[in-house]
Amino acid sequence: MSELSDLYQEVILDHNKNPRNFREIETATQTADGNNPLCGDALRVYVEMEDDLVKDVAFKGSGCAISKASASMMTQVVKGKTREEAEVLFDEFHKMVTGELDAEEDENHLGKLKIFAGVLEFPARVKCASLSWHTLHAALNEEEIVSTE
Ligand code: ZN
Repeated sequence: MSELSDLYQEVILDHNKNPRNFREIETATQTADGNNPLCGDALRVYVEMEDDLVKDVAFKGSGCAISKASASMMTQVVKGKTREEAEVLFDEFHKMVTGELDAEEDENHLGKLKIFAGVLEFPARVKCASLSWHTLHAALNEEEIVSTE
């Protein structure tokens, strides 16, 4: 378990320091704002769809290291996926961080996102980790605002 924790910390620190796809998308077809008042995380997710494909996805905003790292990895993983694949990942990620899915035992497509299973040890951080995914889900469904409250 400590091995996973080390990897978890390393990845979080890296993505927090150098968030990927941390920018606006001028040509975004969908955007949504996500807020986690408990922690003060606030971010906007930009999605550019081309037919059924997530052609580009990015985010801006401020928040704790976990929310930022999770958003950063979300954009990396979702880019190039179909809308349906992105929704499957949202569902699996949500189930993993709430303990409904065991990323090691149950079949899933999470890949490197598995490191966020580590937040299960820190219940207050679950909303930080899942905020960007809820916001992506809202953007894909053309809802504009999402709050974890
Ligand atoms: Zn947070």
